Amino acid sequence: MATVEIVLVYQSLLGIYGDRGNATVLLKRLMWRGFDAKVTVVEAGEPLPDSGQVYLLGGGEDAAQVSAVRALQADGGLHRAATRGAAVFAVCAGYQIAGQSFTVGDHDEVIEGLGLLDVTTVRGPVRAVGEILTRWHGHDGDAQWLTGFENHGGYTTLGPTAQALASVEVGVGNAGDGTEGAIAGTVIGTYPHGPVLARNPALADHVLEMALGEPLAPLDRPEVTELRRQRLAAVRRLSR
Ligand code: GLN
Repeated sequence: MATVEIVLVYQSLLGIYGDRGNATVLLKRLMWRGFDAKVTVVEAGEPLPDSGQVYLLGGGEDAAQVSAVRALQADGGLHRAATRGAAVFAVCAGYQIAGQSFTVGDHDEVIEGLGLLDVTTVRGPVRAVGEILTRWHGHDGDAQWLTGFENHGGYTTLGPTAQALASVEVGVGNAGDGTEGAIAGTVIGTYPHGPVLARNPALADHVLEMALGEPLAPLDRPEVTELRRQRLAAVRRLSR
């Protein structure tokens, strides 16, 4: 079986919120199932490999985010990846970058995004900081509940062709409008850190299933289940 390659995009620009843990989670969940898997870390200025099955983008500060989007535009590799059906999983700054545009700075300069998702981000009225609980569309039972930690000044509006990933139960999400994240084909954008795939193993497996194009056998890891139980309890306590 060929090695599954997870490409972690621009750690030094999009790495300050600990979202590289998403790569670790995907790697472990593949290895626990007997897949050969590796993480390739790519920095700005280096070409994105065309061999990846999953591309991960994390959160970052505004200036770093602008550098990242410019480097990704010049590279073109994420477009190629999405076009051939690789999974792109983008968190917070990465989510904003994957959209049509976002604004930065005191003068709200508009920066063009990659256009992988039909969403637009502008500065919001208050920074969204705190635990977030959402209900993931199209999933039932415990798997539908997604938890994480949001920390963003940008507010994101879905365009006419965009589909939200989830509905907000606690927190702000896209723009305080009840929606969270966006999904288009094999591209997912979402606000929660955590890392979000550590807190939500069903979402991690969904990303892997999109990437591999096949269903995966269920995994039972007691420590993962316990972490999830604790985080869900914590966010539900906050919501009372
Ligand atoms: N700079 C973006 C914002 O504040 C993204 C922040 C983040 O990645 N957590 O909206």
